Order: sequence, then structure tokens, then C-alpha cells
Amino acid sequence: MITSSQLKAEQATRSDTVLAGDYYMQVLKAGQTLRILDLEGNQAADTLFYSANDPSERYSAMDTIREQGNVYLTTGSKLLSNGGNVMLEITADTCGRHDTLGGACATESNTVRYAIEKKCMHACRDSWLLAVAENPQYGLSKRDITHNINFFMNVPVSSDGGLSFADGISGAGKYVEMTAAMDVIVLLSNCPQLNNPCNAYNPTAVEMLIWD
Ligand SMILES: [Zn+2]
Repeated sequence: MITSSQLKAEQATRSDTVLAGDYYMQVLKAGQTLRILDLEGNQAADTLFYSANDPSERYSAMDTIREQGNVYLTTGSKLLSNGGNVMLEITADTCGRHDTLGGACATESNTVRYAIEKKCMHACRDSWLLAVAENPQYGLSKRDITHNINFFMNVPVSSDGGLSFADGISGAGKYVEMTAAMDVIVLLSNCPQLNNPCNAYNPTAVEMLIWD
């Protein structure tokens, strides 16, 4: 559902630009609102969420899909943890659809899906692993990298139940906003994928804005 926000960018308490292929790792406090802004359009933002107090509690695609009875995420979607608790709720969305089925790109899946030569291309999973290695204060490791949300990514479910990575429906300036219901660690990989149209074959920057 397309819903715009009343929040003003100039009143944000924090703003960070994340280049394609980079990661973003920050704590979002309960009650704070995060906007992910697709600066140039058609850019996938692969995101994981953890409880800041107990990172073994983390975003669960299965619980979220089951409880809302819909495979796509948009305004009103409550993002649930593996403990069944609401971690965040999407409060505004000018793109209209976000995927949580397709998973993140990895060198392994690039090799299987595209070509053996793709093994050395940078992938979202590499960015997440780099993030947890460079930020030991969160106590995360490789085993904590699980299923995620692909904000702005268009992964339609076909009538026979299959998935396809389709051309994006996001555009320059579109955004999604979510309010935290608990203190959460946000771990985002701004996707560097070049083998399918999720980034329009031209990965670009996103902006992360936080309001109190
Ligand atoms: Zn990716």
C-alpha cells in the first residue's frame, strides 16, 4: 500500500549514505523511525534485524508471512522475530512492495545461478560477514546471518508458485519507513548484484535516516 510520510528529512537526528556494495550497521532504539531512501531508484537493500538486547532473537520471514497472511511487505506489515514479537512496523512506503522470500545474494548462489566465474564477485553475504567481523561489539558471527528482507526488490510469486527476480518497481526518491517496537540492530547490505535486474544492472546508493 502506497503511504507517504510526514517526517521531514531536515529534522532527522541521523543520516547516512550507504554506497552500493557497502553495509550499514546501527542500533535503532524503540520508538525511533528509520527511513531507507532509494536515492537513484531500482536498488535492492538486503536487511537483517536483531534484538539489541538479545541478538539470538532476530527477524523471521516465516513468522512475519504466516501472521500477516501475505508474502509481500508494505505499510502495516509487522516485522516479527523468531520469538513471535513485533520488532518493527512499516509505517510508510512509497514503493509499495518489498520481498522477504528471495534471500540475499552470495558468491555460492551467484555461481549456481549464473556462472562459475561469478564466484569472486562481491555479494550481500560478503558485506554482512564483513559487518559482523568489523563490529564485534554486537556479538554476532557467521551463524547469525539468516533470512532477510529485500527492501525495494521485486520478486513476484508466479501462479505455479515459483519466484522470479523481476525488474524493480522502485524509483529515485522512493522510500520505506519503519518504527522500532524494541531496540534493534539494523544490518543492511546495499546490494552489489550485477547478474539480475534487482539493481537495474547499476547498483546505486541508499540513504538511511533516523528520527526520534
Ligand atoms: Zn545482493
